[in-house]
Amino acid sequence: MDVMIAGAGPTGLTLAIDLARRGLDVRIIDKATEFFAGSRGDGLQPRTLEVFEDLGVLHQVLAQGRSLPTIRVYLDGKFATERRMAEPLQPTPDIPYPNAWVLGQSQTEAILRNRLEEFGVHVELGTELVSFTQDSDGVTVHLSTGEISRASYLVGADGGHSTVRRALGIAFEGVTDSSIRMLLGDVAVDGLDHEYGYWLATADDPMTGVGLSPLPNTGGLFQFNAPLSEWDSDTSLDTLQRKLDAVHANVQVVNVTWSTVWRPNVRLAERFRIGRVFLAGDAAHVHPPTGGQGLNTGVQDAYNLGWKLADGSPELLDSYETERRAVAAKVLEISTKLMQRYKDGAEDAHERGVNTRQLDVSYRTSEGRLVPGDRAPDAPVMGPEGNAIRLFDLYRGPHGTRLVFGAAAPDEPHAYAVLRPGQSVPSGAYVVDVEGHAFAAYDAVDGTTIVIRPDGYIGERSLASRDSMRP
Ligand SMILES: Cc1cc2nc3c(=O)[nH]c(=O)nc-3n(C[C@H](O)[C@H](O)[C@H](O)COP(=O)(O)OP(=O)(O)OC[C@H]3O[C@@H](n4cnc5c(N)ncnc54)[C@H](O)[C@@H]3O)c2cc1C
Repeated sequence: MDVMIAGAGPTGLTLAIDLARRGLDVRIIDKATEFFAGSRGDGLQPRTLEVFEDLGVLHQVLAQGRSLPTIRVYLDGKFATERRMAEPLQPTPDIPYPNAWVLGQSQTEAILRNRLEEFGVHVELGTELVSFTQDSDGVTVHLSTGEISRASYLVGADGGHSTVRRALGIAFEGVTDSSIRMLLGDVAVDGLDHEYGYWLATADDPMTGVGLSPLPNTGGLFQFNAPLSEWDSDTSLDTLQRKLDAVHANVQVVNVTWSTVWRPNVRLAERFRIGRVFLAGDAAHVHPPTGGQGLNTGVQDAYNLGWKLADGSPELLDSYETERRAVAAKVLEISTKLMQRYKDGAEDAHERGVNTRQLDVSYRTSEGRLVPGDRAPDAPVMGPEGNAIRLFDLYRGPHGTRLVFGAAAPDEPHAYAVLRPGQSVPSGAYVVDVEGHAFAAYDAVDGTTIVIRPDGYIGERSLASRDSMRP
């Protein structure tokens, strides 16, 4: 087997799909005996939507989910105001999905599992990774079923309590914020319009209250969140109802399908890889809830790692830790700052800046407007048959892509000339940049060559850019 993935959460599933579509022999195991059923990470950031488009699941995510709801604020049961986490942005030629999208984590996972099954790979439930050893050729894995299995690589996508991370002896530095405990749950309630989110508090203390966020495609469930005192660990319907009654909400909880106590953790693994064993997702970094970054960062770890495992070159495998650990550290900083705003009682603590969208994640090591390591932007272009397509259509799939602006592209798979309107058509594959968006987004002049990595970041660019042409 090529790759054994321990853990079938969003991170493990994303990686398994990416590897399976590249034709690798992959196994994905999970110690749970049944699939997790709760909303947990229910905010999908724009960059994750782009990854999901490439993996062939976006249409289902869009069909089952919804946009961020407007939040109606009630104080002592009386309507006070409406607010939003972020103002909705219009799509632009280079950013097709500018807004976060809401879908419960268990629904996202089900969509990913179905996609994985299309490649003939099934999650093996009730199968715990117990221990492993590695040598220069591979990893020998011991499973709770008694099976001993051999793989070229092992990926620990096994969550915050990662067995893989512990077995590697990798430090998980950071803090568990014991000053905050959250009561979370998926609830059916009477008396609320499911089109909206709600913030229910008292006029005396408007910053402490109950949040209810509508979960799409669940028959009307809301994700419930409220602070919980240090000595309280009961997550029953009665406790949730007491929280609502305490803010005079006039809302009845009818059913609780999932509930838990959550303490925010901010931790980052010291290493993301030792030899042939890698860490991804919560196994490598855990986040406070603010900003909805945990699930999204895990999906993107997987997307960064998949093509590198398939390639297997030492430099690329090394670059996984360099690139993703730096991103995880930055994301932790963003969500920690947002968490602090909550703790400080800031009035705008619910607002989310553009840095939570993860579109500005970059692996760049040099300066310039668009340099290697930056996200490859989208642009509408015209195909040879006069058909309207997007650059993202050319990138979709497990391959890298070469764009040659204003000149013929080499005769190789996934290489395209990007021509200006009226420019004579060279031999080889080409698209026409009818409105000039591609030249603009890529800061290109005639002769600029750009290689896009399989994970949608700029791999290489020739020196030619608009700046280099300026006197
Ligand atoms: C209560 C709670 C609420 C959250 N709310 C939000 C939120 O609102 N927004 C947000 O963005 N994020 C939220 N998160 C974080 C988000 O859920 C995680 O970031 C996300 O699940 C990480 O995905 P993952 O695949 O890396 O790990 P996980 O989803 O934790 O998956 C790990 C999997 O590994 C399995 N496993 C563990 N050990 C082994 C082993 N030894 N062998 C085999 N399998 C194993 C587990 O059973 C599990 O299925 C929340 C998390 C929790 C716990």
